[in-house]
Amino acid sequence: MDHSPLSLAQSLLRCPSVTPEEGGALSFIEGVLREAGFEVHRPVFSEPGTPDVENLYARYGSSRPYLLFAGHTDVVPPGDVSRWRHDPFRAEIEDGELYGRGAVDMKGGIACMMAAALDFIRENPDFGGSIGFLITGDEEGPAVNGTVKLLEWAKGRGERFDHCILGEPTNPNQLGDMIKIGRRGSLTGKIVVEGKQGHVAYPHLADNPIPGMLRLLDSLLREPLDHGTEHFDASNLEVITVDVGNPASNVIPAEARATFNIRFNDLWTPESLEAEISRRLSQAAGNSIRFTLRMEPTNAIAFLTPPNQFVGFIADAVEIETGLRPKLSTSGGTSDARFIVKDCPVVEFGLVGHTMHQIDERVAVGDLDRLAAIYRKVLNAYFAPAS
Ligand SMILES: [Zn+2]
Repeated sequence: MDHSPLSLAQSLLRCPSVTPEEGGALSFIEGVLREAGFEVHRPVFSEPGTPDVENLYARYGSSRPYLLFAGHTDVVPPGDVSRWRHDPFRAEIEDGELYGRGAVDMKGGIACMMAAALDFIRENPDFGGSIGFLITGDEEGPAVNGTVKLLEWAKGRGERFDHCILGEPTNPNQLGDMIKIGRRGSLTGKIVVEGKQGHVAYPHLADNPIPGMLRLLDSLLREPLDHGTEHFDASNLEVITVDVGNPASNVIPAEARATFNIRFNDLWTPESLEAEISRRLSQAAGNSIRFTLRMEPTNAIAFLTPPNQFVGFIADAVEIETGLRPKLSTSGGTSDARFIVKDCPVVEFGLVGHTMHQIDERVAVGDLDRLAAIYRKVLNAYFAPAS
């Protein structure tokens, strides 16, 4: 059987695994890993109100250190299929590029991980550690029956991981640009300012909530939350919407609402951030503005995997293969790394992301070979006998 990164990627791309459909993708991975000696499990998780989702957990070896590869086989819908240059589920190649939904996000990445692991195990069957795969089918959807439950399930079996590589597409422009060593947290809050409805010509009989809302929002925006840290940009607060919903030009409205979202760095926790927001609003409100603040629950904390030896293994492998010293970044949105980091340090490195979720998502075939070679070098370094 051909276990080149390209062949594995093509097989995966031909599985129509739009969330929450398994589409044959996990079965394919299961078959390949079993044949290579992995123990494979396929837990299915369910939750009222969301579709059941299939997941995969595989392990080779029983000793430590334990290096885990993590990712997802589900993909976002292809959109208007007629606008694709090639069918999104046929895995066709043109001009050295492989087309398909999931080519970079992230079936291509999974194919490279598998190719590297299979090659490493073939050459070092008794390497004295463990290699695992934690693959979810629920990353692009509600993300309820995926990584969180899979980690709990693995923990229940007594699995303990030492390090994890998540293969999301981390490079903005070319392979070797960027490794993600952390992610910002995300927190959303809602403010309601209460006033009193009335006739616009008799404002002394009413209480307009809008000026109060402007003062509260100004108190959040005027001073930055912080100035960034060694590995993170400054935290950012964006006002997402301000709503009064008043259709009448002769009425002072009763209430004004606003929502904001904060992408925060490692200086904050959701709790400390809520305290700071509360403090600012209370100070701006004084005794004259009646408001309530409600923060939405969040599981997106900020985290950082300090640039240690493990990060060094990956950065060195990237540099040897691509000639580029990758930037160690914490930019962008959240990812499943925020769940895995509770169990072990996580570093994210994968393909080039600029076509992800788009029409004509595609990957350079050469990038698949290079990424597999990078993962392969990481395995060599990680499991090298201590000397
Ligand atoms: Zn992804």
